Amino acid sequence: MTVTDLPDLLDTVDTFYGPSVVVGKLFPLTGPCPNHCGECDQCARSKYYTPRNMEMLHTQARANSYYWRTDVEEGYGTFTKQLPAIADSQPQEWMSRFVHCFDDIADRIENGEVPYPRCTGEEMALHLILDDCAEILALGDSAYEYLIAQELDTVLPHHPDDGDTESLRDVMFEDHDVLMLFNPAFDTTDTNPAAAMLGRCNLEPDTWFLPFRPEEPV
Ligand SMILES: [Zn+2]
Repeated sequence: MTVTDLPDLLDTVDTFYGPSVVVGKLFPLTGPCPNHCGECDQCARSKYYTPRNMEMLHTQARANSYYWRTDVEEGYGTFTKQLPAIADSQPQEWMSRFVHCFDDIADRIENGEVPYPRCTGEEMALHLILDDCAEILALGDSAYEYLIAQELDTVLPHHPDDGDTESLRDVMFEDHDVLMLFNPAFDTTDTNPAAAMLGRCNLEPDTWFLPFRPEEPV
């Protein structure tokens, strides 16, 4: 995703995921829990998972699904080159499965769930979503409005933490191990001392879509 794609993205969002899907409403602003513990789900929802942030994540997840799927099906490689080198040699089926992670994230938001990543593929997808949101937010208020379509502006309440993508990155992941794959030391798994690390953390491509927990299937 680059900022020059913004007009295209607006069309895509309007066409496929217009204001009829107001997922932000599924995440009403609440106060923190009575103890203000700062660690429970209610406290997190009161601060980070604001209506506008969830609307933003959902829109970007669907947009990425659309662009990445086209990219994979047409063999352009424009978007998929954002993945770490370890993904370079993966077949189209693997790439398609990765694109599905964007939809899994969007689907769970539509169910009113915070889309905590359930597998390595979803972790990477969520990092990419947050990267894209941050890039677009950096363009200023007018760009932000695309993330929460103009029609929604009067529907969804504002919150001081709207658009705080780095806080979302802090609270939505158990760890950021997947980002190690961007380190050149992980470019090959052959006789690399990093191989053991890959095996431990579900970082090898054939483990990207294994659920972290059996009770949370992917
Ligand atoms: Zn609490």
